[in-house]
Order: sequence, then C-alpha cells, then structure tokens
Amino acid sequence: MNIAIVGAGIGGLTTALFLEKLGITVHIFEQASEIKPVGAGIILAHNAMQVFDKLGIKDLITRLGNPLSQGVRMNG
Ligand SMILES: Cc1cc2nc3c(=O)[nH]c(=O)nc-3n(C[C@H](O)[C@H](O)[C@H](O)COP(=O)(O)OP(=O)(O)OC[C@H]3O[C@@H](n4cnc5c(N)ncnc54)[C@H](O)[C@@H]3O)c2cc1C
Repeated sequence: MNIAIVGAGIGGLTTALFLEKLGITVHIFEQASEIKPVGAGIILAHNAMQVFDKLGIKDLITRLGNPLSQGVRMNG
C-alpha cells in the first residue's frame, strides 16, 4: 500500500514514521523547498513524548533537546 502525506510538519512526519513501522510505503509532499530551523523552539509535552517513545525516537529527541526545568506564565 502507498500513502501520500501532504505536509512535513510534526503531524505528517510522525504519521509517516508510524506507517513505515507498519510496512506501508509513504510519500511526503511538502510545499517548502527546504526544512530548516526557524529560530523557534517547541515544547514537547509528556503525551507527545509517549508517542515518540513508541516510535523509538524519544531518546534521540531528549539528547538533541533541552529539558524544561521551570516555566513562567505571564499575563499582560
Ligand atoms: C508560535 C507557535 C508556537 C507553538 N508552540 C508549541 C509548543 O511549544 N508545543 C507544542 O506542542 N505545540 C506548539 N505549537 C503548535 C504546534 O506547532 C502545531 O500544533 C503543530 O506544529 C502542527 O503540526 P502539523 O504537522 O499539523 O502542521 P504544521 O507544522 O503547520 O505542518 C504543516 C506542513 O504542511 C505544509 N503544507 C501546507 N499546505 C501544503 C500543501 N498544499 N502542499 C504541501 N505542503 C503543504 C506546510 O508547509 C507545513 O510544513 C505552536 C504553534 C505556534 C504557531
């Protein structure tokens, strides 16, 4: 089976990894000509990390990222 995924965002790439684990061939179509850092970080919550754990990439992400030791919520 071949599946086309439109968009190489976190949703598209995560879905592609799951499908590939099931032995399904995936073709990703991304409108951007290159994928590069945009100068913004992303916080991966525990539920997201559970998904990445199932995919076997949690340790890689943990190694490449920085643990969040504290947060401050500002209003105004
Ligand atoms: C400022 C900001 C900060 C955020 N911070 C966090 C955070 O810290 N933690 C968190 O969990 N979430 C955060 N989010 C939310 C999170 O980024 C989004 O929910 C998530 O990235 C959505 O992923 P996605 O794959 O669905 O979409 P996207 O990441 O938007 O990816 C969609 C992709 O599809 C491509 N595309 C679109 N149309 C087409 C087309 N017609 N053909 C081909 N390609 C196409 C786009 O170029 C893009 O690469 C933040 C969002 C914003 C805006």
